[in-house]
Amino acid sequence: MLVQDILKTKSPEIHSISPDKSVSDAARQLTECRIGSVVVLNGTALVGILSERDIVRAIARLGAACLDEHVSALMTKTVVTCNRDQTISSIMEMMSNGRFRHVPVVDAGAVVGVISIGDVVKHRLDETQEEVRQLAAYVAGT
Ligand code: AMP
Repeated sequence: MLVQDILKTKSPEIHSISPDKSVSDAARQLTECRIGSVVVLNGTALVGILSERDIVRAIARLGAACLDEHVSALMTKTVVTCNRDQTISSIMEMMSNGRFRHVPVVDAGAVVGVISIGDVVKHRLDETQEEVRQLAAYVAGT
C-alpha cells in the first residue's frame, strides 16, 4: 500500500494557512475543519506545519497571549515530508520516529496532500480485515 492509494480516497482539499496569520485564526481553522494540523504555505512553498499540540504547548508556556502571535512564531519549520510512491509502512516509521501524526505529501515541489495517523490506522485496519476475510475463505475452502 502506497501513499498515493490513501490520497485517492481523500478529499483533494489541502488545509493550509499563511505564516503571517494569527494563531487564533489557525485554532479556528483546526476546529472548523475538524483537523489536527495545518500546513503553512508562503504562496505555494511549504514553510512549516502547525498542529494543535503546538498551540496547547504555547498556551501552557505563554498563556492566552500566544493566540495573537503569528503562525510563523509557533510552527515547526523543519517539516518531514513524503512523496506519493512511499509505502504506508515507511510513513508509520516516520511518524513513530519523529513523534508526530501528520506528514505532508510533496510532488514536484508542491504540497498535494497530508497523511494523518488516522488515515494510516484506517488503511491498516482495512488491510487486516481483508487478510482475515481471505484466510477465512481459504480455511472454509470457498
Ligand atoms: P502532531 O503529532 O502532528 O500533532 O505534531 C506534534 C509536533 O510535531 C508538533 O510540534 C508539530 O508541529 C510537529 N510536526 C507535525 N508534523 C510534522 C512533520 N511532518 N514534520 C516535522 N514536524 C512535525
